[in-house]
Amino acid sequence: MRADQGSFNRAMESKIAQILASLTIDEKISLVSGQDLWSLPAIDRLGIPSLKMSDGPTGLRSTNSDPATVFPVGTALAASWDRDLVEEVGAAIGREAIAHEVDVLLAPGVNIQRFPLGGRNFEYYSEDPHLTGEIGTAYVSGVQSVGVGTSVKHYVANNQEHNRMSGSSNLSKRALREIYLSAFESIIKKAAPWTVMSAYNRINGTFASEHDELLNSVLKKEWAFDGVVISDWGAAKSTIGSANGGLDLEMPGPARVFGADLAKALAAGDVTEDTLDDHVLRILRLIARCGLLDGNPKQSLGELSTPAHRALARKAAAKAMVLLKNDDALLPLKTAGKIAVIGGLADYPAIQGGGSSQVSPDRIVTPLEGLSRCFAGQSEVLFERGLDPEPKPATLDGRLLRPTEGASEQGLKARYFGRPDYQGETVLETTDWRFSKLGFGDQAQSDEEAFSVEWTGIFTPRHSGEHRFSLSHSNPDVDLIIGEEELVGSTTPRETEMLFMILPLNRREAKINLIAGKSYPITIRYSQPAGIKGFNIFNVALREPAPSLDAALRAAETADTAIVFVGSGTTSETEGEDRASMRLPKEQDELVERVASLNPNTLVVVNTGGPIEMPWVDKVRAIVQMWLPGQEGGHAIADILTGKVNPSGKLPMTFPMRYEDNPAYIHTPGGAQVDYGEGIYVGYRYYAKTGIEPLFPFGHGLSYTEFEVSNAEAFCSRKNGQAIEVRARVTNKGASAGTETIQVYVENLASIEATAPLSLCALDRIELEPGKSADLTFVVPSRALAYFDLDQEDWTVTDGPYTLHIGTSARDIHHSLNIIHES
Ligand code: BGC
Repeated sequence: MRADQGSFNRAMESKIAQILASLTIDEKISLVSGQDLWSLPAIDRLGIPSLKMSDGPTGLRSTNSDPATVFPVGTALAASWDRDLVEEVGAAIGREAIAHEVDVLLAPGVNIQRFPLGGRNFEYYSEDPHLTGEIGTAYVSGVQSVGVGTSVKHYVANNQEHNRMSGSSNLSKRALREIYLSAFESIIKKAAPWTVMSAYNRINGTFASEHDELLNSVLKKEWAFDGVVISDWGAAKSTIGSANGGLDLEMPGPARVFGADLAKALAAGDVTEDTLDDHVLRILRLIARCGLLDGNPKQSLGELSTPAHRALARKAAAKAMVLLKNDDALLPLKTAGKIAVIGGLADYPAIQGGGSSQVSPDRIVTPLEGLSRCFAGQSEVLFERGLDPEPKPATLDGRLLRPTEGASEQGLKARYFGRPDYQGETVLETTDWRFSKLGFGDQAQSDEEAFSVEWTGIFTPRHSGEHRFSLSHSNPDVDLIIGEEELVGSTTPRETEMLFMILPLNRREAKINLIAGKSYPITIRYSQPAGIKGFNIFNVALREPAPSLDAALRAAETADTAIVFVGSGTTSETEGEDRASMRLPKEQDELVERVASLNPNTLVVVNTGGPIEMPWVDKVRAIVQMWLPGQEGGHAIADILTGKVNPSGKLPMTFPMRYEDNPAYIHTPGGAQVDYGEGIYVGYRYYAKTGIEPLFPFGHGLSYTEFEVSNAEAFCSRKNGQAIEVRARVTNKGASAGTETIQVYVENLASIEATAPLSLCALDRIELEPGKSADLTFVVPSRALAYFDLDQEDWTVTDGPYTLHIGTSARDIHHSLNIIHES
């Protein structure tokens, strides 16, 4: 916080109060809705510029699909358990937002990972509210440190994609307070985010964007949140209910529930001008906080896709990866011999999830590239796909495209026109290799909002055989021409589906036989006719001919080490759809088993944002959870496998043995009413309570060195406001430098209420050279001991006794200390 923050705040408050007093009622009404998909209206008369927002959270998602650095997804950041790192990443994403002229980043996503198949779990941090709160606080602090606002989302109990626009999350007040609100509460109190996004769903029957109790009473009064509540895009359902229920800003614009209907409600006395003034004041405060009333000084901090940001994305991805298993120290890999890299994801990895968080990458470093670079001149690296792991075809790989025959640059030549018929002057010419677009063409739009774009160049298949193209598009027509053949055009039959459950999308498919290595001229066209406003979405996907399993098995057999990359594919983890299964798609389980039966030194790298079942867990020697690691993930996995970076990530969620073991299993997916029947027993709390053995527990993660935890003590500290102080000594007993994360869990032994046998209440990472020790001190505030007392409608702390468990995972508890809390 700046030293003169107090006087700056006073000056800002008096300035925005003056502006509020000068606004007409129409201007006030205009300010509580967006003017378009992403921005607020300017009020030129008073020198108020338009404020712009964009997603978040994995990097800056340009609303025009322009590139930015893709950082590891939320779950991966949380797996680092590293607050400083996440703050650094937040600041970098903030700088990229500035470079894209964005004032508010629609991130972080801090919903609890209630069950393993939640489609957006990869965006979120953890099954645990304390870890979520710590990581979310760091992220918000980082982004806001450069003058860009955050939007902590989705408030609240938005934990699945099935029925996401209207389902009611029905839960007890204890589960709501202790599990689902808790991370929001700590982020709001510790990091003061400038906005909060209200969710699509209902909570116990009432829509989140008009939930008087949760927005007005809890968020704004009890937690003293002085920022803006923004509706998720299209989540505002009613005029009077939203205005009185605590929603400040309806997005996107133009207004649907506020605007003219709000004017009517004001005239009828259903909404008071005081209520409107409070919304407007909060919005003016946001505009001021973003520096827009002071000439936008943050502009000078913008940075985009710099080498420093790429290096940070690589560091973050490596710190996130979790070494799940490492029998007889197979890892780190020795540098001699032959290495077989198997699995399509090694060459075309899932770097992020799908949906509104999808960033256009600045570049993609594949694991194969990372490993080949590390082992160049030392080991022979063989690569075989083995099988196609993609349930749906992946986005067309830019490496198969060239703007002209023989060009070294990848991609196609793109020409944008300010009219819908690919005619006239080009408005923009560029080279483009990214064919998954959520919004584009803004630079080219004419007064009627029409534009067209034509991509041309050379397509060179890498395999011979049937190529299946699939074009998904929000506009009526697209074209795909390969060689002389118009494969897709306006007469090609189309299917219409809903994207993310909100956006109608057309899909056209075609297939063609092609020869590997031959150059085929390719033309792709997309045109936006006049008069259709909205989101331009375009994806060109390709399913290449099936790979040879035999070739992969032969490679495995002849190599000294086999590394199998597995995952759910590049499109399965996405907003708008829960994951279909915790089993790997296609025959990937069999692939692992067959490789392992041929090569005793088999290790598996898991490229997913969440847990999978691992029927082969005992048959392979090592397993690394790579997550969805961002654009630099290929370098990061090579850093981990070769030991350049000693793994230190820890699971932010339990990996269940079977999907059916998870606590929400019998309650999901639910219909319009979703019963959170497991109550407070979410994640490891449930496994600890029931004794069900997980595959890998919450907090688990190995290192290439060994640690010892000793000298544990706990006492109630009067001077620390009756907090409990916990101390422990950590010693690196192994031969290499490494990092251990100590986790403190609390157990209430004498509560009259049911409480979880374990609740994470403190954590810290410590990096140690071999043979070195360090003493760690944790302060566990009394609130961490409390449960939400339904009779008192408040938090209650009893005297205990309590047990403080000091561990390196929820199952590896090294010391348990009993203590009475002196209240
Ligand atoms: C998502 C939000 C996102 C918004 C804007 C919604 O569909 O749920 O997370 O911020 O779109 O893209």
